[in-house]
Amino acid sequence: MLAVEENVSLKNYNTFGIDVRARYLAHICSTKDLVQLLHTEPYRSLPRLILGGGSNILFTGDFDGIIIKNELAGLQAEPHNAHQVMIRVASGENWHQLVAWCVSKGYGGIENLSLIPGTVGAAPMQNIGAYGVELSETLHTVEAMELATGKLRVFTKEECELGYRESIFKHKLKDKYFITAVNLLLTDTNRTSHYECRTHYGDIRKYLDSKGVKTPTIADVSHAVIAIRKSKLPDPKELGNAGSFFKNPVIDEAHFKKILSDYPEVPHYQQSDGTYKIPAAWLIEQCGWKGKRIGNTGSHARQALVLVNYGGATGTEIFLLAEQIRCTVQERFNILLQPEVNIY
Ligand code: FAD
Ligand code: NAP
Repeated sequence: MLAVEENVSLKNYNTFGIDVRARYLAHICSTKDLVQLLHTEPYRSLPRLILGGGSNILFTGDFDGIIIKNELAGLQAEPHNAHQVMIRVASGENWHQLVAWCVSKGYGGIENLSLIPGTVGAAPMQNIGAYGVELSETLHTVEAMELATGKLRVFTKEECELGYRESIFKHKLKDKYFITAVNLLLTDTNRTSHYECRTHYGDIRKYLDSKGVKTPTIADVSHAVIAIRKSKLPDPKELGNAGSFFKNPVIDEAHFKKILSDYPEVPHYQQSDGTYKIPAAWLIEQCGWKGKRIGNTGSHARQALVLVNYGGATGTEIFLLAEQIRCTVQERFNILLQPEVNIY
């Protein structure tokens, strides 16, 4: 049965811990709930916002509409072929719990994405990625309901138009589809010896070497990622944040060479098309923002790309801090950082 609350604080529904209010908040526990919501006045004519774990959202004011809180649950796994398994996961499931379950079963492919907060349904939104792996590598299909019609549609991976922290759901179809389930094709490492863990990312290699692990299992990689993340990233339960606030910029070769001549130490990663990715955290640090606090907001001392709420900050204050950072980075490096966080 559809449960809708009225005039609700969203403080505990976003990892920045921003205290704004929503006119309505609907708890969606089944697709029937969603259909009911889409066909019932007064909800059908209000502005809508789909909410998962709220770990990639910045609220800059109250939401005078209905928050559709995803609580769809369920998981099935079926053998797909001799060495692969198809996992169908309801979109309201917690992403990290899914990863932990897959690791415990020996299903490989998403272990590098351990400890990313939020729901499974938000994962295709920005093609979540970390430690050299992106969701796109294991995503098979996405099931979604069109909010305007209540019709269900299955998107192939290609139709999701996944890119670097991008998808069709973040752009052309923004706020138009509610992702209901995600299908992943993983490797069943119990049935094959041909699975190679992805350990090329510097921090993972270093961690495994320090533990003397020469031939890592998917569990070893997951443990490494969890340990590295815990040592570097602030826990939103203790310090409000939404992870990386900006995407890492990718620039052309001429622009990169100009920066390299001024800053020979600039960290960079050449892309297959000849462009260069520069860590946004480095750019922000060069501009003197790392660890800097303005009122109740700031750039985190261990990871400059993570903007934090020290307690009581408004979304607008965080937004203004982000704008100041963008301006100084643009002035110094001629790079306009793009937010990764969804701003409402
Ligand atoms: P929300 O914040 O609730 O929503 C994000 C956006 O997706 C919103 O626009 C929302 O409307 C939309 N949305 C949510 N659910 C659905 C749905 N079912 N259907 C349609 N639209 C939907 N991200 C990475 O990629 N890599 C990382 O390594 C990473 N590390 C992080 C570390 C920390 C400490 C934090 C706080 C965040 C990190 N993130 C990372 C960002 C974030 O966790 C992910 O983007 C995550 O997928 C967001 O999930 P969510 O359920 O919290 O989404
Ligand atoms: P890091 O290791 O300090 O590296 C800084 C940036 O350089 C990373 O963001 C990464 O880009 C890039 N990089 C590092 N090694 C690379 C390699 N071998 N090949 C290509 N690019 C490389 O980064 P970190 O802040 O500790 O984060 C570690 C990983 O977790 C990163 O993948 C990062 O994206 C992810 N993460 C994401 C969020 C988020 O909210 N989105 C929050 C925390 C961590 P990429 O980001 O493209 O990998």
